[in-house]
Amino acid sequence: MRRPGTQEPDLPGDGVQAETPSRADGLARLASFVPHAAAYARERSRVVPPHDRVSRLSPYLRRRLILEREAIAAVWDVHPRDTVDKFVSEVLWRTYWKGWLELRPRVWDAYLEQRRRDRDGLAGTASTRYADAIAGRSGIACLDAWAHELIETGYLHNHARMWFASIWIFTLRLPWTLGAAFFLRHLLDGDPASNTLSWRWVAGLHTRGKHYLARAENIVRYTDGRFDPKGELDEQALPLNEPPLDLTPSPLPASIEVDTDLPSGLLLTPEDLSPEVSRLWKLRFRGVAGGWDEAVGDSLNLATAVVDFSRVAIADALSRAEMHLAVPSYVLDEGDWLAAAEEWALSLALRQVVTLETPVGRWRERLEQLDAQLARHGIALVRVRRIWDSSLWPGATRGFFPFNEHARRQGRLDGLTRIAPSQPG
Ligand SMILES: Cc1cc2nc3c(=O)[nH]c(=O)nc-3n(C[C@H](O)[C@H](O)[C@H](O)COP(=O)(O)OP(=O)(O)OC[C@H]3O[C@@H](n4cnc5c(N)ncnc54)[C@H](O)[C@@H]3O)c2cc1C
Repeated sequence: MRRPGTQEPDLPGDGVQAETPSRADGLARLASFVPHAAAYARERSRVVPPHDRVSRLSPYLRRRLILEREAIAAVWDVHPRDTVDKFVSEVLWRTYWKGWLELRPRVWDAYLEQRRRDRDGLAGTASTRYADAIAGRSGIACLDAWAHELIETGYLHNHARMWFASIWIFTLRLPWTLGAAFFLRHLLDGDPASNTLSWRWVAGLHTRGKHYLARAENIVRYTDGRFDPKGELDEQALPLNEPPLDLTPSPLPASIEVDTDLPSGLLLTPEDLSPEVSRLWKLRFRGVAGGWDEAVGDSLNLATAVVDFSRVAIADALSRAEMHLAVPSYVLDEGDWLAAAEEWALSLALRQVVTLETPVGRWRERLEQLDAQLARHGIALVRVRRIWDSSLWPGATRGFFPFNEHARRQGRLDGLTRIAPSQPG
């Protein structure tokens, strides 16, 4: 498709309107981005809505409505590899953060604990600064515009996220955990790994002593002069410190094999919504179930738009699974998700509930609770990790650059071709 009267290709995202939470829309958005992938390295830094120089794929990748390897394969399919390397590296950043947190789950627990303490401790002028910042009335025009954009669209460009986090921490002097929580509440792609660890990176807690300071000059340049916060930002601040936290990576727990002889059901969570592009595809199930869990949304105080996105995405995955696996689907009660999942397993006389891996975060915690509940009935909960994750996550022991090399050495990145629906994940 070309714009009338021009030889220029369409902008990425053309033909795909607002985010619509389905795999088909994710694939359509990917297809419309592919022709622009080679220009991405040159053009992605421009931070001007509607952000048509970047892919806007994150809400889909986040829920695995489309897979990292599908995004990489799609651009490799039509461009020489060296011309789309920047895009491939960005997608690998997502895998890197997931793997990094998976090897150090205590960093997520520490974040939740610190967030609680920071919330309880907020008082006086800090409390007013916080209320103003999240309402978009801090008085710093760029920060306020980004707060509104985040709340209204569920999206911020990567640079705006970096600048926002940096100004929040070093100019407003607000706790980073509360900024991360504000992002997680509103981002359609809100993710425990990418979000928490990016905030820690900006603060100087990820690479100790190396923080990210927003510079007014950069903001002027990359927003095409839309904002000019000269003299408003603390550009000299020192990195944050925190009490010692053990960041030694632990090995990944072994992925359990599915017992193909047991009566099994497939459980879908918004952590991975493409079962038809996974090893589960070939198994026989008695039924497939899934549904939003209010308890997860409440614990992260998620905005309605974020919950709605997940809700519709789950419904999309259920209908695809029902069709591909030729089994009935069940929508679990959001108000009592745990009991509903247990009841579903019992009603089908299952001996095994199989789900695609739920990485570190609230869904993992819910699955651990479900595991304990099902065990009382002699039903096993089996979390299946994708080959992509099993081969790449263990490489997230140090920084991104060694990880990137590790990833490219792993055969998973080579030999990627266009994905057929039945290819394992
Ligand atoms: C403070 C802060 C918080 C962030 N929180 C999140 C979050 O909650 N969820 C999230 O998915 N990303 C997060 N990011 C990373 C990044 O900003 C977004 O992934 C990216 O802006 C999404 O837009 P896009 O799809 O147009 O990206 P593109 O530039 O088109 O990149 C393609 C894909 O690569 C991945 N990607 C790109 N940059 C990064 C990155 N720096 N880290 C991890 N993955 C990346 C995303 O999956 C993205 O969809 C955060 C970054 C910062 C600085």
